[in-house]
Amino acid sequence: MRRSSVTVTETVSLVFVLWVFAVVVVDGGFIKYETGAGTVEGKLNVHLVPHSHDDVGWLKTIDQYFVGSNNSIQGASVRNVLDSLVVALLRDPNRKFIFGEQAFFQRWWAEQSLEIQEEMKKLVYSGQLEFVNGGWCMHDEAASHYIDMIDQTTLGHRLIKQQFNKTPRAGWQIDPFGHSAVQAYLLGAEIWYMHDWPSPIAWVTVMRN
Ligand SMILES: [Zn+2]
Repeated sequence: MRRSSVTVTETVSLVFVLWVFAVVVVDGGFIKYETGAGTVEGKLNVHLVPHSHDDVGWLKTIDQYFVGSNNSIQGASVRNVLDSLVVALLRDPNRKFIFGEQAFFQRWWAEQSLEIQEEMKKLVYSGQLEFVNGGWCMHDEAASHYIDMIDQTTLGHRLIKQQFNKTPRAGWQIDPFGHSAVQAYLLGAEIWYMHDWPSPIAWVTVMRN
């Protein structure tokens, strides 16, 4: 009987040789791309929007989402997001981020040192970090009463105004499954956002400026 033409030893040797080849021939180092905030004429311009979408309680409780516990249910820790966000933005002024949910941001903000709060203010004033939507949460559109929608948005906006003297310019309501008429009215006529970025599922962009 013929033995198998490729033994385990031969396979391991082949993998090793390929690994050495890859290390020697392929430069796997960090590559800096020439990216910037502007558009480039004559090319397809792709805009990536690094953003938050932090449910204020969904599969886990708000506390579990914030501290990152019970990750067997869902891997999520908003505190880690915000901690790493400051470092990442300070490292490169070309980086930008938009953050929405004040229920998480305010909790994080309250536990920061004055130094970190000052760094965060600089990031907001330079435009690297922008608050979008700015409500306490990204409210449900179907089950919520419109008074509650207004109240929770007002609360978040008031805190942002107090802390940063800023008013959110853009709506950011990206997880409803279609928009309600009340939501469209609030985003347009009442809250007067410059831009509305609604659900990718119901992708109807309303640009106002
Ligand atoms: Zn969601």
